Amino acid sequence: MINEKMKNYGNNRSVIRDLFEFGNQKKAEVGAENVFDFSLGNPNVPAPKEVNETIKELIDTKDDIYLHGYTSAQGDAKCREAIVKDLNRRFATSFRKENLYITCGAAASLKIILTALYAEGDEVIVFTPYFPEYKVFVETTGAKVVEVASDPSSFQIDFNLLEKALNPNTKSLIVNSPNNPSGVVYTEENIQKLAALLEKKQEEYGHPIYLITDEPYRELVYDGIKVPFVTKYYRNTVVCYSYSKSLALPGERIGYVLVPDEIDDSKDIYAAVCGAGRALGYVCAPSMMQHVLERCTGLVSDLNEYKEKRDLIYRALTDMGFTCIHPDGAFYLFVRSPIADANAFSEKAKEFNLLLVPADSFGTPGFVRIAYCVSTDMIKRSLPAFEKLAACYK
Ligand code: PLP
Repeated sequence: MINEKMKNYGNNRSVIRDLFEFGNQKKAEVGAENVFDFSLGNPNVPAPKEVNETIKELIDTKDDIYLHGYTSAQGDAKCREAIVKDLNRRFATSFRKENLYITCGAAASLKIILTALYAEGDEVIVFTPYFPEYKVFVETTGAKVVEVASDPSSFQIDFNLLEKALNPNTKSLIVNSPNNPSGVVYTEENIQKLAALLEKKQEEYGHPIYLITDEPYRELVYDGIKVPFVTKYYRNTVVCYSYSKSLALPGERIGYVLVPDEIDDSKDIYAAVCGAGRALGYVCAPSMMQHVLERCTGLVSDLNEYKEKRDLIYRALTDMGFTCIHPDGAFYLFVRSPIADANAFSEKAKEFNLLLVPADSFGTPGFVRIAYCVSTDMIKRSLPAFEKLAACYK
């Protein structure tokens, strides 16, 4: 017997992955320079030079067991110390290394905390549009995803809808700001409002409601926009972080779960995080990357390069008549499809070798996502294709 649920996840790959594979096939047919692949959030601005320099130095100076051996399951102590020291300096917090569990990226962080927290019948609220893998991570714990639509004019939280969705089965919410796919950053005022609402509801229901912040884009913001550090606003916050985007290391699989002392049942939740990591077979996060983080946590790829790409594509597409959400962060542009069916629009775009992800699987039909973390040259070369696409709907 085969696990049918797993078979289905395997057979029904994500739309993003499907487009990416289509792009590879197309590149082989017509040449890579003629395909404008905006499908994947694979950062193209490299990590700061210190990352590769550290890797080289580690290889030259450290022994193999230190470099490639197992670390503690929760992560190397020096790595965890370096990360909390950096967080405490930046956010005026007082985390200890015992609050931190090093993971194989944000996906693992989410899967681990959800496995640690959830039981059959629990509900987790997600705001649309959301990273489609949330559904897979939540549903495989036996819990249920409850989608709450964002305010369609700003893609900030719609508090009326949120209040209606909250109920005694709500165990937690996942927030992702800066957001994939909208690029929206939640305002401080909205984080305060969210915190006040959840405090009220915890009291009413007589149990904690955990706020899980999925923050792989925390540092990727432009024009001096500030990303509120949510643990400072709401006590029952658990942070899931990843270096995939800030340090452009998505293939290296490194991130963390942060379980602050202040949250309800902190010690037990940390123990459950360790248990979930064990049950899911992670053993430990890649050791070489942990040693790299000891020196490089807190560094960020060149934001000016992302800002240049953002400004270029946002301006060009709005000039052509497309309606785009102004992205303050991350590296995605969320574009309203000129026809109701965003899948049909994405198919049309393929005729011009433009790969745009329809946002239905993000829970927001009628939009496409453009991952602009590609070369500026490709963005420039793609503009005539966007012009042709726009002309189809004039
Ligand atoms: N969460 C969001 C919102 C993402 O966009 C991604 C990746 O694109 C992830 C989680 C998973 O990140 P990681 O590669 O660190 O597992």
